[in-house]
Amino acid sequence: RLEAEGLYRRFAGRAVVNDVSLSIDAGEILCLLGPSGCGKSTTLRMLAGVETPERGVIRVDGVEVEGPLVSVPPEGRSVGLMFQDFALFPHLSVADNVAFGLRGGKAGKRARVRELLDRVHLAQHIDSYPHELSGGEQQRVALARALAPRPLVMLMDEPFSGLDNRLRDGIRDETLALLKEEGTAVVMVTHEPEEAMRMADRIALMRDGRIVQQGAPYNLYNAPVDKAAAAFFSDVN
Ligand code: ATP
Ligand code: MG
Repeated sequence: RLEAEGLYRRFAGRAVVNDVSLSIDAGEILCLLGPSGCGKSTTLRMLAGVETPERGVIRVDGVEVEGPLVSVPPEGRSVGLMFQDFALFPHLSVADNVAFGLRGGKAGKRARVRELLDRVHLAQHIDSYPHELSGGEQQRVALARALAPRPLVMLMDEPFSGLDNRLRDGIRDETLALLKEEGTAVVMVTHEPEEAMRMADRIALMRDGRIVQQGAPYNLYNAPVDKAAAAFFSDVN
């Protein structure tokens, strides 16, 4: 479970994340949705520990990882990261990329790598290198790598943005199934209402650094909080 309370961050004197609070339980997917520049990535980066909030508290399974007196680095937070340009290590094989964050014995690591590569249908590419894979395949390896250490929380920033439409639907559905199976709590950033409607258990709609509405996808669609929120969802069928 991930909880954040009162996250606040300014750039050049302007609050880009302004008192954001949210929580996600194991097995749940929360989509941070909103227009470009509203503060989604900054929020996610603070949850990940790669950006420091000026105010606010973050807890992972009850343990404070960010607060007035603590700031645990990303690798100590039990979070998996999948960001827009979070590339694979080009000099490592697919297997070594997936094994990168794993501890323990060689056999155990190998088994986990195999399990995940099977799951994303890339077992045949276990000894390939990233440049030998398509964009979609690289994305699936990145997903396997992020999930390998069994993080409690998965943080994804527009993870499917680089893919063409046809490929994207398939990878989205596979990703969703894998995340559900692993029981990971997920925060996923997107600026596409359609993607949020499809993937989220809950949507947090952001505007100008604030969460303006939060709830089940059909709630936001059927009962938008204001005209701007209604307009934002108007393209979704
Ligand atoms: P997009 O959908 O375009 O990715 P976003 O909602 O993820 O947008 P953020 O990346 O969080 O938006 O940025 C929010 C605002 O903060 C923007 O106006 C951006 O220019 C500004 N900002 C973000 N990071 C920095 C930084 N390191 N220095 C200065 N300004 C920043
Ligand atoms: Mg962004």
